[in-house]
Amino acid sequence: MNQESSRRDIRKLSLRELEEFFVSIGDKKFRAKQVYDWLWNKTLKNFSDMSNISKATRELLEKHFIINHVHVDQIQRSSDGTIKNAVKLFDGNIVESVLIPTPKRITACVSSQVGCSLDCNFCATARLKRMRNLNPDEIFDQVATIMEEASLYHDRPLTNIVFMGMGEPLLNYANVLAAIEKITSPEGLGMSPKRITVSTVGVCKMIKKLADDDVKFNLAVSLHSAINETRSRLMPINDTNPVEDLAEALRYWYAKTRRKVTYEYVIWKGINDDEHHAHALAKFCKIIPSKVNLIQYNPIDDGEFQQADPEKVDMYLRIMEGQGIIAKVRKSRGQDIDAACGQLANKNDLELIPE
Ligand code: SAH
Repeated sequence: MNQESSRRDIRKLSLRELEEFFVSIGDKKFRAKQVYDWLWNKTLKNFSDMSNISKATRELLEKHFIINHVHVDQIQRSSDGTIKNAVKLFDGNIVESVLIPTPKRITACVSSQVGCSLDCNFCATARLKRMRNLNPDEIFDQVATIMEEASLYHDRPLTNIVFMGMGEPLLNYANVLAAIEKITSPEGLGMSPKRITVSTVGVCKMIKKLADDDVKFNLAVSLHSAINETRSRLMPINDTNPVEDLAEALRYWYAKTRRKVTYEYVIWKGINDDEHHAHALAKFCKIIPSKVNLIQYNPIDDGEFQQADPEKVDMYLRIMEGQGIIAKVRKSRGQDIDAACGQLANKNDLELIPE
């Protein structure tokens, strides 16, 4: 075994394990806390930068461990200020993360898997095979990178995080929760869980698990239709997780957490742009307290799916309003660099903007 493969990834160790390591080499237990702080709070990428650690100890760390930090392979900047990162992982796989600036917020949109297994017909990521789950530190690094970019390019702090990049977060449950733990804990980035939203295609069993685990972040569900026949056509997951089961899982979520849910919903021409679908959505929204984000469709290629006409969107808004449901139209961001919802597909043939 060469030295490279015998060195352990230090960020796989808990604080306790790191303490044990320092005690085992005859050092002080509190050294672990210092190193942990460099890794998870200050997000350092090299042992040599750990300035309160002696040179001898840094060399020892270097001998035993590596820091498998992600590497930003390519940065693309949209005319609207959106930044898309092609993030290279230690094994060469690439995922994408996006920084989305608005006047009041800077949001990081992060990936949870390499590719996706879900086959939603309208999504570009679905065209990529699912390769693997991301590790907690790979998710964490996407956030840390966007934090740096927020101050570098926009001179503002990161305010929100959405798990709406590549992959299905609830099918990488343990790692997503471990990453969020590091992002929210005071020893980590100290962000409020209220500013984090995990978006799911609607994996009922895992929505219930979130409720059981008493998570403090927000939940969004990609609904797109509250009618089984239409939803199954759009999202094959609906065959095994139909609308009734989703309703039941959401009731369970609300009973335990008392927190409302956000539904993401695209209105497509000729698919769900009639009153029948709008009324079904309004009815579904009454199951538990909720709000609706009407997302603009971002075309991905073949033209099978097209954004509905503006009058149809207005019709939806009218019906929602009439039923006392909060619905907002969400403008698409970063379309010119394929950074918008559902466009993340590792298209690397675009103009390269150096870091
Ligand atoms: N797997 C998770 C998170 C990733 S997708 C989920 O399904 O929620 C993030 C959001 O973008 C989802 O609501 C998804 O339905 C939506 N989306 C996918 N492709 C899109 C497209 N081409 N245009 C607009 N929204 C899209």
